[in-house]
Amino acid sequence: MTHRPGIVVTGASGRMGRMLIETISDSDRARLVGAVERAGHSWVGRDVGEAMGGAPLGVTVTDQPLDAFAQAQAVIDFTAPEATLEFAALAAQARAVHVIGTTGMTDDQIARLEPAARHAVIIRAGNMSLGVNLLVQLTKRVAAALDEDFDIEVIEAHHRHKVDAPSGTALMLGEAAAEGRGVSLADVADRGRDGITGARERGHIGFSAVRGGDIVGEHDVLFAADGERIVLRHVATDRAIFARGALKAALWGQGRAPGQYDMVDVLGL
Ligand code: NAD
Repeated sequence: MTHRPGIVVTGASGRMGRMLIETISDSDRARLVGAVERAGHSWVGRDVGEAMGGAPLGVTVTDQPLDAFAQAQAVIDFTAPEATLEFAALAAQARAVHVIGTTGMTDDQIARLEPAARHAVIIRAGNMSLGVNLLVQLTKRVAAALDEDFDIEVIEAHHRHKVDAPSGTALMLGEAAAEGRGVSLADVADRGRDGITGARERGHIGFSAVRGGDIVGEHDVLFAADGERIVLRHVATDRAIFARGALKAALWGQGRAPGQYDMVDVLGL
């Protein structure tokens, strides 16, 4: 294992990309060795620190991911589903740990990660924060303890730029609730209600999404019965929690056997 693993950030100019570059540059446990953006992006060819409006970091933004990955022990990737699939194949080729924060992947896209995971470590989570991963565990336990007299609803809020709904985190929480109840989420999920929907079905798990302003990420899991309700809540106020979690995952993945892991593995929850 390398003492200070070299890390490449994909989607370098994105909200999470910038946060990751700051987090890795400030860390004494890892080195930033590459920054990748889409071909044609105005940052390509520029020093990533200068492109971010700060001091140079000695890393030039590239649109050639394989060249960057070949220099690295890990790739941290918060981009878009099709880009993440391409990066998974290239990271596996370079035998670099691939930390995937990208959300909105379909089941088919997730299945397409499998060949890469035969050769390299993939750590994928819809939310990289310690708090949310703890909330997932709590949701599973509460759902297992309560019967279907308690209606479960997952309510999430995010900034106006978010392109997918429900959020990856909301789906993680829904999966946890379904697992606690011993059912499959696909059979019981109510994703978005509009018009004459009929009464709520017993045992279903509902999702609602709020989009607006600069909200970093808020999630409530509501267990509502007659006469009482329980609300489990996580509020993210700073994207740094996701970047720190992703860096932790990249370090944890060094020297592990190839395969797919998640933050529950990384955090030992
Ligand atoms: P963003 O739109 O600000 O950034 C995405 C970046 O990816 C952009 O800079 C874009 O140019 C780049 N990109 C897209 N395709 C590319 C390609 N083919 N090659 C190189 N770069 C490419 O979005 P964001 O807010 O930073 O979020 C990115 C993803 O991370 C989303 O899916 C979001 O839901 C997810 N996210 C996950 C967590 C988590 O903890 N897992 C936390 C926050 C955001």
